Amino acid sequence: MDMKTILVVEDEREIARMVQSYLIREGYRVEVAFSGEDGWATFRSLRPDLVILDLMLPGMHGLEVARRIRQEGATPIIMLTARSEEADRVAGLEMGADDYVTKPFSLRELAARVRAVLRRTEGGTAPEVVRAGDLTVDLAAREARLRGTLLELTPTEFDLLAFLARHPGRVFTRRELLEALQERTYATLPRTVDSHVKNLRHKIEPDPENPTYILTVHGVGYKFRPAEGG
Ligand code: CA
Repeated sequence: MDMKTILVVEDEREIARMVQSYLIREGYRVEVAFSGEDGWATFRSLRPDLVILDLMLPGMHGLEVARRIRQEGATPIIMLTARSEEADRVAGLEMGADDYVTKPFSLRELAARVRAVLRRTEGGTAPEVVRAGDLTVDLAAREARLRGTLLELTPTEFDLLAFLARHPGRVFTRRELLEALQERTYATLPRTVDSHVKNLRHKIEPDPENPTYILTVHGVGYKFRPAEGG
């Protein structure tokens, strides 16, 4: 088994360092970040196998960090919460966090949770290829094909399609989609999303006026069609 990488996002440096050295002794590679912003930036460059995330962070809240991580995929998240943060804990679990540990916690308990969550999510990482009907989206190769024919998509169109296709059935607002595309488009107007969707539909939909892959959710935004049987 190769060495797993864990990102610890915790503004209390002493706790962060303690967790780090304990988990290093347990055989993990561990990076720490002391704020939400730093945690998010480190997540994006490090691509860890698991994130230990304190919720009460200065600046960007832990829940916002969790939300962004979930938009990117299925990386397991263990939340660190205070006993009084029950509402946040629930929100975090609803957002897709895998487990939580209540402060004060023992390092042994945390390490046990880490092992359990990694075991549970092993092999359950996001698929590299998403298939829906006649459409195939190869996330690693950055290629989309319709009935086997390579589609000529702009990088933004591909990113938008890949993002939606990774979360079939889940509805995203225009603003969320913009955020997901932010690094590429620098656009700020939610309506920009509409024009990308329109262009995409002309390339991937047999009948762009009656879309079957990227569906409009009126008054909200867009979703990729739900997976068959899901
Ligand atoms: Ca904190």
